[in-house]
Order: sequence, then C-alpha cells, then structure tokens
Amino acid sequence: MEGLIMDYPLTTTTILEYGNSAFKHKKIISHLPNGNRHEYTFGQLYKRCKQLANVLTNKLGITKGDMVGTFAWNHHQHVELYYGIPGIGAICHTINIRLSSQQTEFIINHSEDKVIFVDASLVPLLEKIADKLETVEQYIIMNAPENFSTSLFNIFHYEDLLERQLEEFEWPTLNENDACGMCYTSGTTGLPKGVLYTHRSTYLHALTISTPNAANYDSSDIVLLIVPQFHVMAWGYPYLCLISGSNMVLPSSNLQPEAIISILKEEKITKANGVPTIWMGVYEALKKNPPKPKLALKEYLVGGSALPASLIKGMEDDFGIRGVQAWGMTETSPLGTVSRLQSHHRDLSPEEKIKIRAKQGIEFPGIEMRVIGNDGSVADRDGKTMGELQVKGAWVIKSYFKTNNRDNFTDDGWFRTGDVSTVDSDGYMHITDRTKDLIKSGGEWISSVALESALMSHPKVKEAAVIAIPDEKWAERPLAIIVMRVRDEMVSDEDFKEFLSRDFANYQIPDRYVFVEQVPRTSVGKFDKKEIRRLYAKGEL
Ligand code: ADP
Repeated sequence: MEGLIMDYPLTTTTILEYGNSAFKHKKIISHLPNGNRHEYTFGQLYKRCKQLANVLTNKLGITKGDMVGTFAWNHHQHVELYYGIPGIGAICHTINIRLSSQQTEFIINHSEDKVIFVDASLVPLLEKIADKLETVEQYIIMNAPENFSTSLFNIFHYEDLLERQLEEFEWPTLNENDACGMCYTSGTTGLPKGVLYTHRSTYLHALTISTPNAANYDSSDIVLLIVPQFHVMAWGYPYLCLISGSNMVLPSSNLQPEAIISILKEEKITKANGVPTIWMGVYEALKKNPPKPKLALKEYLVGGSALPASLIKGMEDDFGIRGVQAWGMTETSPLGTVSRLQSHHRDLSPEEKIKIRAKQGIEFPGIEMRVIGNDGSVADRDGKTMGELQVKGAWVIKSYFKTNNRDNFTDDGWFRTGDVSTVDSDGYMHITDRTKDLIKSGGEWISSVALESALMSHPKVKEAAVIAIPDEKWAERPLAIIVMRVRDEMVSDEDFKEFLSRDFANYQIPDRYVFVEQVPRTSVGKFDKKEIRRLYAKGEL
C-alpha cells in the first residue's frame, strides 16, 4: 500500500525558497579576487537567482537539460549559478580551474557545455583552448576590471546581463531525479570522469551534512567555505548553509594561510572546511604568529585526504580549535563518513580519543558501507581486517557520465571506492590506503597513509609522503619524501627509523628518506602520488 503523503520533489529550488523564507536576513560575504568585500543577504540572493534564471532562459537560450559550465572562484555570483542554473532545469557543471589545459578541454567537450560563466582573472586559461572547444556558444565574464579585454568571442558581462532583468520568475516544476550539477573527478587515477548529481541527491546530502552528528551547523554559525566551488560542489556547502541558516563567507582566490587567517579574524568565522594541506598551512602560520584575541573558530571539517593526528592535537592544544575528519569522493557527492566521538567514548584517554578522531568515521544516514576482504567476503568489523571499501546510498554514483564502464560497480549494486580500509567494532571506518598506493613488500602490505601520519607527528617534520619504490629483494619498499619545518634542518635516517619503530614493525619502516622543499600536489591540494612516483619511484636517487 502506498502512503498518503504529498509527492514533493526535493530540489535545489526548494532549498533556495526555504533560505529566503526562513533566513532572509542571513548573509553571504565574498572576499573577491580584486580585494573588495561584497556582502548581501539570502533575500537578495533569492532575487538575483530569479534575475539569473531570466537571463539564462530569455537571453542565453538555455533550456532544460543543457549543460552550463562555471570556471570560477568561490563568491556570491558562483552561488547564484549554483541555484539559478538547476532552478531552470539545466545542469551546473563546475569546471576545476586547476586542471591541465588538455584535461579542461577534454572535460568541456565531453560535457558539451553550451555557455561558460568565467571569472575575468581566469579567462587566460580558457583563451588558450577556446578554438578547440566544440560546443561553447557564449562566455559570461564575472568580476572584470575596467581595462578588461579578451580574445574570447561572444562575451557578455554578468552584471550587465542581470541588471536589466526582472526579479520575478516562475520556477518550473522539476523531477527530483533530474540532473542538477556535474563534477569530473580530479583525474588522480586516470582521465577525469563525469559524476552527474541529481536534485534529490544534492538536497539529501546537504540536509544530512548540516545535522549535529555531521557538520553540525545552525543559524548562529558563520561558515568559511574554503573548499572550492569548482571541486565537488564545495562539499554541498552553498546548499547546506541555506538549510542551516548559517552566514556564508566566500574567500575566492584568498587561499594562502595568512589570507585565510585574516578572513577568520575579520569575519569572526565559527566553522570552516578544507583539505588537510590548507589546515596544515594555517596551523604553521598561527604558530608563528599566535592570534590575540583568540579566534572565534571552533571547528574545521577536513576531508580529501587523511587528517593527521598530530594536526588534530596541535590545533586543539595550541589554539582550542577542533578538527573533524570526514571522508568522501566526487562519486559520493562527496561526504560519506564523519568521525565524531560518541558519549560512550567520554572516559577514554586523550590519546585514545584522538586515535578515533583520526579515523574516517561512521557513515551518514543514507549511506551504507562494507569492506570486502581478499577472499571476496565482507570483512569482520574488528578494526584489523583490511579490504576494499564499498559504499551505496542516496547520494552515491550509479554510473559515470557517458560511459558504460562498470569497473567501479559490483554486480550487487555497490560502488567500489578503490580505498583500502578497516572498520572497527564500533563501526568506525579507517582508510589505510588507496588500492594503488599500498606498498607490497616481501608479500606483506604496508600502509603509506599510516607512515605519513606517523612521520608528520615528528616535531621537526612539516609534511611527509610515502610511496613504493621497486626493490630487487622485496619487490617494493617504502620511500619517504620529507619536508622539514625548518629548512635545512636534518633528521638522520637512523633517528627516523627509531622514531617509527614505536608504532611499526621493522619491515614496514622506510629505509630511505628524501628531503624536499615541497611535496607535489594535485589540482585539489592533495599529495600527487602519481607525480611523486614519476619523480622518485625509479629508485635512482
Ligand atoms: P580523486 O579521486 O581524483 O583524488 P576525490 O576528491 O574524489 O578525487 O578523491 C577521493 C579520494 O580521496 C578517496 O577515494 C580517498 O582516497 C581520499 N580521501 C578523501 N577523504 C579522505 C580522508 N578523510 N582520509 C583519507 N583519504 C581520503
């Protein structure tokens, strides 16, 4: 028997309507690339989204199902695109500005973007490939300085277009399973692949992430969105802030540690997100120049790569700021798990508590996870048995865009993450590696992530990346790439081995340590293992 409740589609437009109705006076603040600060309310956002919807339909000829690209930093116009484009039934395709020219060209042609909204400061990146873009008919420039010029054809300026439009627009009724946004994976493991989100998946993801066991946002929060809007829809934050009624602060290109700290102070930020590398940089900068008075920041949510226990401890002991770890992928919208302590952990020692928080945590309601061991069966939840992490749920991909390749999907309906993990008896998942990054030495698996995390807890080490190098005797051995806190300061190989021997068996400890000034990074700020291997893995050091 079917229930007797209204069939009410969960769409991004319903989030916009709610934000306007419930939190009209809440603010969106942008620190723009040109140094200007822009501030307006959810109520004004609402009106401008309607103006944008008029532009898209009447002026640019965008219709339902069209792909509309964005190539931009985090700012209020980009938030308007997040609502305006899906609001008319089109798809907001956020293009990662940090990919190579070839990848950007591939993505735009593959997705068939009809129009691209681009920040003036990023136009040179598109100019380089414009003659190879097969489907783009128009470029809409945002935040252009007065002397702006470009070789791009068919351009309009965003503000000029909006200015002449009515603030009235009748949103079409959409199916909640219609596509609303698209992101490509950052290509760490091959060619970028398109992930097409639905209105429903976006709505449920944002709603769930705002809850207390997850990001825990409410209308007293002022949230800094450090995760770029060109990377997995900024983890859904432009949607969840309207649901939770939190003020949103957008840093655009101000992503250096000092710039972030200055925004944290000026805007009295209470919560923020970001990948660990950003927070490592912020921590180093805070240590050099401790803020007085204390920052209002209470909590930062981290995902994208492992949050080192040393960073959790350092930020908390030195500045009283809590790091919360989440795990996810472009394919999981992105957030799938989060690690917060529960009431039964209350009496654990501080070290035991940090150990739990350094895990990737429990799944969100709406997501299921399992670990498949080497023998193909579901691994025991004993915190020890490793295997491939598989997930399914209300915001997990069921197929990549325009391909029938099913390599990442099991026959019984799970998505294969490519991550290797354990789950403990409490249900906390712990990523030990990516399938490709595991080191197999003399037939035994060694976790590069565990070694990195341990090395980064050494007081003299700022960053550490571990890869496999070929070895005649053992097939593979771990090699550690180290960035010291103080340049030119050294720690001997023997001292490192001694330090690691507290937590690792002898065969797991790297024999060699290479000191570098910077660990190569991917377009989204993670250690670029592919590049590190290219540079160092031949073993000829
Ligand atoms: P890409 O696959 O191109 O790197 P994603 O941003 O989708 O792009 O990366 C997802 C991957 O990032 C996960 O499969 C996992 O390996 C890693 N990851 C995400 N969050 C965490 C975390 N908290 N700890 C460890 N690894 C993480």
